Amino acid sequence: MSESAPIRLAVVGLGLIGGSLARALREAGMVSQIAGYDRDPEQMRLALELGVIDRIGLDAADAVRGADVAVIAVPVLATAAAIADCKLGLGPETILTDVGSTKQSVLDAVISVFGDIPPRFVAAHPIAGTEKSGVTHAQADLFRKHRLILTPHPAQDAQALAVVEALWAATGARVVKMDAKRHDAIFAATSHLPHLLAYSFVDMLDHLDGADEDIFPNAGGGFRDFTRIASSSPRMWHDILRANAGPVAELLRRQIDELNGLLRMIESGDWEAMRAVFERARAARERHLTRIE
Ligand code: NAP
Repeated sequence: MSESAPIRLAVVGLGLIGGSLARALREAGMVSQIAGYDRDPEQMRLALELGVIDRIGLDAADAVRGADVAVIAVPVLATAAAIADCKLGLGPETILTDVGSTKQSVLDAVISVFGDIPPRFVAAHPIAGTEKSGVTHAQADLFRKHRLILTPHPAQDAQALAVVEALWAATGARVVKMDAKRHDAIFAATSHLPHLLAYSFVDMLDHLDGADEDIFPNAGGGFRDFTRIASSSPRMWHDILRANAGPVAELLRRQIDELNGLLRMIESGDWEAMRAVFERARAARERHLTRIE
């Protein structure tokens, strides 16, 4: 398989990310045929009807049979089950890859199925998405100009890595490589903890007296900006938080210390100290976002 000839693609898990990748690769002319499988028959029916895939597999193994590249795009804790279901259909040359938001747990899932990490398994995580789930929200341009992280492992086959890198580059993503443990520490900080805080904040508000009557009805733009991600799939985020519990717990303790510090400033009337926190945070956000953008 060359890195430029159209490939036969299989996608297991036809949701937002699997569907968007299928659409993006078709639009980029990278695929000759796309087979798909999802445990939800409605997602499969929709994926076929919307032209996201060309063929529905009878099961996961049937979907990946004959594929050059098989993508696992299921919630992270379903990874082992999905790969085990595919196993019989995978050929010796098939490249197996994933899109999971946690990487060490995915490598562990692969080991639980194969006994070790096959050289042709490539771990990947697109840093793009929305709070919407399901194939109806799949977009061909979802990954354009966003990062795509590959976490190569010690047994990694270089050609398999190059093929997966070329596929993601064709979606318009900027491919970056890093170690799986470092990946999990970084995304615990920038993604997993913020989702936990957003869910927790909305849940706390919902328990206040007057939540229905006048609290939520008066919520403005700040509330929407701060809590958009609390509309994300609870199933998906349950899996991510559970799969990356250690790094998230460590950061949550630091966040609680920070909040306790702010509480002490408010209770003691130390408004200068509180304002200094705000000044530092605003400067940090602007400095970092300007640099990234
Ligand atoms: P999604 O829209 O909910 O789609 C996942 C699909 O996989 C669902 O239809 C689900 O069916 C199906 N599924 C679950 N277990 C399965 C199994 N064993 N075999 C076959 N299909 C199975 O989720 P998504 O947002 O595309 O997320 C998919 C992956 O991408 C996750 O690992 C997530 O961490 C990662 N990711 C998501 C985002 C994001 O913003 N959404 C961004 C980057 C990476 P059921 O609904 O019946 O369970």
